[in-house]
Amino acid sequence: MIILKSRAEIDRMRVSGRNVAEILQMLRERIKPGVTTLELDRLAEEECKKRNAKPAFKGYAGFPFTICSSPNEQVVHGFANDEPLKEGDILSIDFGLIIDGFYGDSAMTVAVGQIAPETQRLMDVTQAALDAAIAKTVPGGRLGDISEAVQTYVENAGFSIVREFVGHGIGRNLHESPQVPNFGKAGTGPQLKAGMVLAIEPMVNSGKPGVKVLEDGWTAVTVDRKPSAHFEHTVAITDQGPEILTRLTTD
Ligand code: MG
Ligand code: MG
Repeated sequence: MIILKSRAEIDRMRVSGRNVAEILQMLRERIKPGVTTLELDRLAEEECKKRNAKPAFKGYAGFPFTICSSPNEQVVHGFANDEPLKEGDILSIDFGLIIDGFYGDSAMTVAVGQIAPETQRLMDVTQAALDAAIAKTVPGGRLGDISEAVQTYVENAGFSIVREFVGHGIGRNLHESPQVPNFGKAGTGPQLKAGMVLAIEPMVNSGKPGVKVLEDGWTAVTVDRKPSAHFEHTVAITDQGPEILTRLTTD
């Protein structure tokens, strides 16, 4: 069942979303060669404490960190560690929190110093695919419109869609119905309605689409070890169209 949120509930989710966006922005400003993902994880946790927010991922099914930090060939759910980031790396950070009973969830991929042009294009295409999907997140549309928008954008650019992980409804639970795949057919699936809130999150590989999970039981990497990018926003459907709850209002 897809849980519709009232206006008052979306107001509360806006607060959660804004806090996610602000913390991700702080992390983004810290990312440079020499910084470790453990430092970023600690920063995110401290910021949650200051804001009376509870990290969404730490302890979720046993996940041990506040952020998912997934460099280069890691797709999602990577573990923070004390290895310094290097010039030319890319780093995906996925972060969520709960404030006043409601979750926010967002992800970004950030360049560490100068990166290869093809890797920059991977990031740009992934972000643009998310934007294309959000444009389809309107009342009267269908869930498949979102999925097809991502798939078409990514595949036309020559990259591949990860199929093992999907977006999701979000609200009082981190993961609610419906699943939001990054592949599919327009005009199919549940009808989109005002009050739905979706976490839309394309994961895009520069090489083959396949992923595998490492022995830690979490870290997903590309089978060909080529880089992967991930962007995510929590998006509310309103009568006026999509509202991105996890975007900084200064953007
Ligand atoms: Mg996320
Ligand atoms: Mg998510």
